[in-house]
Amino acid sequence: MTSTVPPIPPDRQRELVALVADLGPTFAERAAGYDRDARFPHKNYTDLRAAGLLGLCVPAHYGGLGADFATYGLASEELGRHCGSTALTFNMHTATMLLCGQIADDLEMSPADRASHERRRAAMYAGVIGDGHIHAQPFSEGNAPGATAGVTTTAVPVEGGFRLSGRKIFASLSHAADRHNVICITPDDPTIRLISVPTDSEGLSFTGDWDPLGMRGTVSLTLLLDDVFVPSEAELLPPGVFDQVAHRWPHFYLTLSFTYLGIMRSVMDFTADYLTGRTGPGARRDNPQKQAGWAQMQIAYEQSHALSRRVQREAGPDPSPEAVRRAWAAMVSVMETAPEVAGMAVRVCGGRSLLRPAPLERLYRDARCGATMLPWSVEACLERIGRAGLFDTEETGPHA
Ligand SMILES: Cc1cc2nc3c(=O)[nH]c(=O)nc-3n(C[C@H](O)[C@H](O)[C@H](O)COP(=O)(O)OP(=O)(O)OC[C@H]3O[C@@H](n4cnc5c(N)ncnc54)[C@H](O)[C@@H]3O)c2cc1C
Repeated sequence: MTSTVPPIPPDRQRELVALVADLGPTFAERAAGYDRDARFPHKNYTDLRAAGLLGLCVPAHYGGLGADFATYGLASEELGRHCGSTALTFNMHTATMLLCGQIADDLEMSPADRASHERRRAAMYAGVIGDGHIHAQPFSEGNAPGATAGVTTTAVPVEGGFRLSGRKIFASLSHAADRHNVICITPDDPTIRLISVPTDSEGLSFTGDWDPLGMRGTVSLTLLLDDVFVPSEAELLPPGVFDQVAHRWPHFYLTLSFTYLGIMRSVMDFTADYLTGRTGPGARRDNPQKQAGWAQMQIAYEQSHALSRRVQREAGPDPSPEAVRRAWAAMVSVMETAPEVAGMAVRVCGGRSLLRPAPLERLYRDARCGATMLPWSVEACLERIGRAGLFDTEETGPHA
């Protein structure tokens, strides 16, 4: 089925991607500092806000730029070319905008739920467009690989709202987001709820150290919720809609891979510059061994890129089993090819390419993080692809 939201014309897509590209060189310059200090890229968010890009996927009639899923894929890839941590955190923000916008529009709701959803998302979008709110999406608890499995954070209904308690690992944008949108369950009901928690809520805190291998600017601490009160209006999707996403709009979980497509592009650009002598100690393009390695890199990149682009265009409600299988394959391909290509670049360019301030060593570390991202981690996708076509769809469960 196609999305109820009409596709964005190519000219408009190019305009939106150009908005990101304009900021790119400045973000690329700042990337090394954020990585070195494992600091959140606050200045980049100031610039994204000023350019209107916090509203990239906010529908136009709510004052946003109105990008759809496929256009977001292109913009996110462009951002990932310049700063992986900015792109990955921007994904957490934008994924919520898409979830409550295009994706919610494609899913079933009762008329009463649709009316309350309209009211609540209008308030959320007003916060983003008017007040520059940044949203985070700490879903992970580390208990199970499924999008709707292993959720133990509870939302106990009380007068006027809920009291939330639980713990989320890798809460990217810790201390930086204005809203932390968590998934949780109410007691004795497995339905997943999506609830937005303001950062200054009493009982919300962060714990743990942050000194990771890569994606250091994401600042993904552990989020603790200790009996935090949130009003009913903070529930961003009507109960049951988040569960529908895993069955009916599974491409939602693909968005994480766009950052890594951009990182791959950056590795390719760096290698071309290095081998031709535009950067680094001098040209190496006449060396047949370098040419052979560069050829392998291009083939790996083009295969992964082409599959990802195809899958981005197929995203929509109720995809065929083949389209879902391709989406899993695209996820594995991007998340595995990005570090592979970065590793090849190290070999092809040579030892001096690893010296800072050259960005290759950071790209190599950032690229390595993608495979671990749940619910469509490489392991989880491989497990699903391994069963696809061999069992009935009913036996294989939700797509995410
Ligand atoms: C830089 C970075 C930023 C992140 N930002 C966010 C964020 O903003 N929001 C967010 O929600 N998450 C975020 N994550 C978390 C990420 O999506 C994963 O949840 C996390 O990497 C899982 O870590 P783990 O060590 O618990 O993984 P694992 O131990 O591999 O898996 C988690 C659980 O799933 C089980 N499991 C995994 N695969 C399978 C399988 N195939 N079959 C059966 N069981 C399986 C494991 O046994 C375990 O219980 C981020 C991660 C990174 C690295």
